[in-house]
Amino acid sequence: MQHDRTRGDAAPSALPVRLLRLADGQSKLLLALSDTILGFAGHWDAKTFQSCRGRQGRCKWCPGPTSWRGYFAALAWDGEEQRWQPVGVEVSEAVEATMREQFRRGTRWHLQKPWPVRKRKQPVIATLRGAHEDPGLAAAFDFLPLVRSLYQDPDLLLDIPNPKPIVTVIAFEQPAAPEESPRPGPPGQAERLPTFKALDRERFGSEGNGKRRQDNGK
Ligand SMILES: [Zn+2]
Repeated sequence: MQHDRTRGDAAPSALPVRLLRLADGQSKLLLALSDTILGFAGHWDAKTFQSCRGRQGRCKWCPGPTSWRGYFAALAWDGEEQRWQPVGVEVSEAVEATMREQFRRGTRWHLQKPWPVRKRKQPVIATLRGAHEDPGLAAAFDFLPLVRSLYQDPDLLLDIPNPKPIVTVIAFEQPAAPEESPRPGPPGQAERLPTFKALDRERFGSEGNGKRRQDNGK
């Protein structure tokens, strides 16, 4: 059966809602259905994020440091299936802080999680790709049961705004690089700054010869 998959003029799609947490190297084009990004406070227990059960008066991690996780309802473009898939998108407090100023229902976002650099996990990069005032846009849907099951917390609520202050993001044309700009080195080392060792060598001559230890006594 042939139908135009780009315009959604066929029968409405009936698809199960999934949770979307970007994996390393993954990127997604998203169409926001929620008006805001709300979430919950939680604690890191070793490498696992646990929702704070303080509201029920039985949180075993309180009063430890808390962190925040946010969610919004969206449609995610599935390039293989050539269709939009309903998802509850998970974002960290750092990512939400870069999206907050521009986020609203109908905005399109590109979310990308780069591959780790020297084994260090990289933060998700969110880029606004425009807004769509489409009167036929699907309503935001409830994905709370999915999040509750993910964190095994049947009382979890997504009603807390991110406490992290907003990060101002601006779009601008990159001016030409400064003329004294050094040529980039091998991948991953382009941004390397001089180390203290290198600075000492500059100051005290080629290898230091224990001078540094003597200078420390001053
Ligand atoms: Zn707690």
